[in-house]
Amino acid sequence: MSVLEKITSEGAIALEDKYGAHNYHPLPVVLTKGEGVYVWDVEGKKYYDFLSAYSAVNQGHCHPKIVKAMTDQAHTLTLTSRAFYNDMLGKYEKYATETFGFDKLLPMNTGAEAVETALKVCRKWAYEKKGLNENEAQIVVCENNFHGRTTTIISFSNDPVARKNFGPYTAGFIKIEYDNLEALAEVLEQNHNIAGFLVEPIQGEAGVYVPSEGYLRKAKALCEKHNVLFIADEVQTGIARTGKMLAVDHENVKPDILILGKALSGGAYPVSAVLANDEVMGVIKPGNHGSTFGGNPIAAAVAIAALEVVKNEELAQNAETLGLLFRDELNKFIPNCNVVNGVRGKGLLNAILINDTEDSSTAWDICMALKENGLLAKPTHGNIIRFAPPLVMNREQLLDCVEIITTTLKRFEK
Ligand SMILES: *Cc1c(COP(=O)(O)O)cnc(C)c1O
Repeated sequence: MSVLEKITSEGAIALEDKYGAHNYHPLPVVLTKGEGVYVWDVEGKKYYDFLSAYSAVNQGHCHPKIVKAMTDQAHTLTLTSRAFYNDMLGKYEKYATETFGFDKLLPMNTGAEAVETALKVCRKWAYEKKGLNENEAQIVVCENNFHGRTTTIISFSNDPVARKNFGPYTAGFIKIEYDNLEALAEVLEQNHNIAGFLVEPIQGEAGVYVPSEGYLRKAKALCEKHNVLFIADEVQTGIARTGKMLAVDHENVKPDILILGKALSGGAYPVSAVLANDEVMGVIKPGNHGSTFGGNPIAAAVAIAALEVVKNEELAQNAETLGLLFRDELNKFIPNCNVVNGVRGKGLLNAILINDTEDSSTAWDICMALKENGLLAKPTHGNIIRFAPPLVMNREQLLDCVEIITTTLKRFEK
């Protein structure tokens, strides 16, 4: 068999099973093509993508403007490393910092790398500007967080599957309850070695937990009072997903450090970034941090195009409008359906809560049935199904999807 010969779904799954590490448990669908809100499997079946690669494909699959920016740049110059300048990085840094309102950007590739970068910047700021003693800086994080998979990041996860047997862990993190301002106030009063507070504006992986109204604004105010940096991980919630360019925009909060990834490239290429003002980013000097691929010309060209698409196509507005419609439609359906306990979310980042125990297979079975009916979604944490379609969806497509979801759920009535 030639390596690039056409393959069936079964064949592709068998190859991954035999030759790939088993670090994921995918839904058994093998995709070969994507366009806008749709993806196709190798047998030619068409699906609505209701995951969008965990919100990386906000701009839709293979957006022509993003693909063109990427291929044009790939024909011209792909990588110089930061040992030399390239003529794209500065343009991208100007465009992105102006878009989000910060002085400086530090370019990386993946979300986890950007989180690591933000933690390093925060600690260095704490020693050099806030005046903490070396190696004593603590960073406050939230229970049930998801910030990526590196050793430092899993050190402050409380997911046993992500953590067990990967120790020893990185010290210097204090975990508090999410959406609990008293807990934050208390730790900030009691501990004077705190450098930063790292938070997801909505906890996506945990199951789309939307905090109480005012939580982010008040948490930011508490951080200001104690001279602690407010670090927003918007890797999943950012770039129009929740109905605003950033989820913190719903409460007019300006983070001290902003972390972006995923849709910063529209899913075309790994691009992540950390943004901050000079007072904070100024602590980073040559040699302190870096990445061979971070800030490469393709990444820069792709990210500019991806942000332009979000603005030109008014994707934040569309996410807001369609998100309201989606939750309205499901809220009409849920009272008459005993398999779903509720729907929650903001913009087009939503989840339904399945009426079964966390260790039951119901959510997985529903996702399998949704797949049969032409819609792809994945359970997160057992009995929760996240719904996050590309933001280029239109009203008619969304109503079509609501129809698929509700008819599928009816079949699981008990
Ligand atoms: C996906 C995600 C990350 C990690 O991004 P990777 O590119 O997978 O490393 C970090 N934070 C949040 C909130 C995420 O959703």
